[in-house]
Amino acid sequence: MRDDIDCEQALILLYQFIDGELTIERRDWITGHLHGCTHCFAAFDFEQELRTVIRSRLQTPMPDALRGRIMDALQREFPDFGGGVPGLH
Ligand SMILES: [Zn+2]
Repeated sequence: MRDDIDCEQALILLYQFIDGELTIERRDWITGHLHGCTHCFAAFDFEQELRTVIRSRLQTPMPDALRGRIMDALQREFPDFGGGVPGLH
Protein backbone atom coordinates (compact mmCIF):
# COMPACT_ATOMS: atom_id res chain seq x y z
CA MET A 1 0.00 0.00 0.00
CA ARG A 2 1.33 3.38 -0.98
CA ASP A 3 0.30 5.04 2.27
CA ASP A 4 2.24 2.51 4.33
CA ILE A 5 5.36 3.18 2.32
CA ASP A 6 4.89 6.91 2.75
CA CYS A 7 4.49 6.52 6.50
CA GLU A 8 7.56 4.34 6.84
CA GLN A 9 9.61 6.81 4.84
CA ALA A 10 8.15 9.69 6.81
CA LEU A 11 9.16 8.15 10.14
CA ILE A 12 12.70 7.62 8.94
CA LEU A 13 12.89 11.19 7.70
CA LEU A 14 11.29 12.35 10.93
CA TYR A 15 14.46 11.81 12.89
CA GLN A 16 16.54 13.68 10.37
CA PHE A 17 13.93 16.43 10.37
CA ILE A 18 14.13 16.78 14.16
CA ASP A 19 17.91 16.78 14.01
CA GLY A 20 17.82 19.50 11.37
CA GLU A 21 19.58 17.32 8.83
CA LEU A 22 16.98 17.42 6.09
CA THR A 23 17.19 19.23 2.79
CA ILE A 24 14.51 21.82 2.03
CA GLU A 25 12.85 19.44 -0.44
CA ARG A 26 12.58 16.64 2.09
CA ARG A 27 11.43 19.02 4.79
CA ASP A 28 8.63 20.18 2.50
CA TRP A 29 7.71 16.59 1.72
CA ILE A 30 7.53 15.45 5.32
CA THR A 31 5.70 18.59 6.42
CA GLY A 32 3.10 17.92 3.75
CA HIS A 33 2.82 14.29 4.81
CA LEU A 34 2.49 15.17 8.50
CA HIS A 35 -0.34 17.55 7.75
CA GLY A 36 -2.25 14.82 5.95
CA CYS A 37 -1.42 11.91 8.26
CA THR A 38 -2.48 11.96 11.90
CA HIS A 39 -0.52 8.77 12.55
CA CYS A 40 2.80 10.34 11.67
CA PHE A 41 1.83 13.69 13.12
CA ALA A 42 1.29 12.08 16.53
CA ALA A 43 4.73 10.49 16.33
CA PHE A 44 6.26 13.80 15.30
CA ASP A 45 4.59 15.61 18.20
CA PHE A 46 5.84 13.00 20.64
CA GLU A 47 9.40 13.26 19.39
CA GLN A 48 9.41 17.05 19.37
CA GLU A 49 8.18 17.11 22.94
CA LEU A 50 10.73 14.55 24.01
CA ARG A 51 13.65 16.41 22.46
CA THR A 52 12.54 19.67 24.05
CA VAL A 53 12.37 18.10 27.50
CA ILE A 54 15.71 16.37 27.11
CA ARG A 55 17.45 19.50 25.84
CA SER A 56 16.05 21.76 28.53
CA ARG A 57 16.51 19.45 31.51
CA LEU A 58 19.51 17.29 30.81
CA GLN A 59 21.69 19.32 28.47
CA THR A 60 23.48 16.06 27.67
CA PRO A 61 23.20 13.42 24.93
CA MET A 62 20.36 10.97 25.33
CA PRO A 63 21.38 8.10 27.65
CA ASP A 64 21.46 4.63 26.10
CA ALA A 65 18.81 3.36 28.51
CA LEU A 66 16.45 6.12 27.43
CA ARG A 67 17.13 5.44 23.76
CA GLY A 68 16.26 1.81 24.39
CA ARG A 69 13.00 2.74 26.07
CA ILE A 70 12.09 5.04 23.20
CA MET A 71 12.87 2.34 20.64
CA ASP A 72 10.68 -0.10 22.55
CA ALA A 73 7.85 2.41 22.63
CA LEU A 74 8.21 3.20 18.93
CA GLN A 75 8.26 -0.47 17.98
CA ARG A 76 5.10 -1.07 19.99
CA GLU A 77 3.51 1.91 18.28
CA PHE A 78 4.82 1.09 14.80
CA PRO A 79 5.35 -2.70 14.61
CA ASP A 80 6.22 -2.55 10.91
CA PHE A 81 8.94 -0.03 11.47
CA GLY A 82 11.59 -2.44 12.78
CA GLY A 83 14.80 -1.18 14.34
CA GLY A 84 16.10 0.91 11.48
CA VAL A 85 15.95 4.33 13.06
CA PRO A 86 18.98 6.39 12.06
CA GLY A 87 20.82 7.79 15.05
CA LEU A 88 18.53 6.15 17.60
CA HIS A 89 19.81 2.70 18.49
ZN1 LIG B 1 2.07 8.87 7.71
